[in-house]
Amino acid sequence: MRIIMLGAPGAGKGTQAKKIAEKYQIPHISTGDIFRSNIKEGTELGRKAKEYMDQGALVPDELTIGMLMDRIRKGDCAKGYVLDGFPRTIPQAESLKKALSEMEQKIDFAINVDVPDEKIIDRMAGRRACIACGATYHIVYNPSRVPDVCDVCGAGLVLRNDDKPETVKKRLSVYHDQTKPLIDYYKEAGVLVNIDGTQELNKVFSDIADLLGA
Ligand SMILES: [Zn+2]
Repeated sequence: MRIIMLGAPGAGKGTQAKKIAEKYQIPHISTGDIFRSNIKEGTELGRKAKEYMDQGALVPDELTIGMLMDRIRKGDCAKGYVLDGFPRTIPQAESLKKALSEMEQKIDFAINVDVPDEKIIDRMAGRRACIACGATYHIVYNPSRVPDVCDVCGAGLVLRNDDKPETVKKRLSVYHDQTKPLIDYYKEAGVLVNIDGTQELNKVFSDIADLLGA
């Protein structure tokens, strides 16, 4: 069961990826985690990637794919895996396909957690974070007991810059330009699964589980 998660930033694909990994006992692989572990272990790819990151540059696709393939070759991926945050572009999807075919593997499911832009902007605008301890809340889905006051430490809650509508709109526009074409790409490959991501979290997950089967 080799799975790719697709969906806009804020659609909840990371949360669903974790739930899939738990239920099917397969690793949840995010590029962020792969970068961190390669840098921590001081691998050659990790050292090269760090040079780019230190300069504030994007890590080239060949390095990311190299680290990803090293991860996929590990024993715990024998039954499959859930990729979260990769690929983000058509060239990355092409490189991944090529690298996987060299291992006689292919992606079985590309799960698109579909949420319209306006809903994402609304959801993000409802997030609140504690300025002191970093605890996070949502004014509708996970409110603090007292509005604008942290349950954990009593400090004030704010809407982070990352969650403000202007920032979210910018990220969504990058998503539409670079990542959304992957939906057609995987549809043509016959592995696309569309899931209504506007539903309650557990309903989204039960729809995914129904499609993947027990
Ligand atoms: Zn707090």
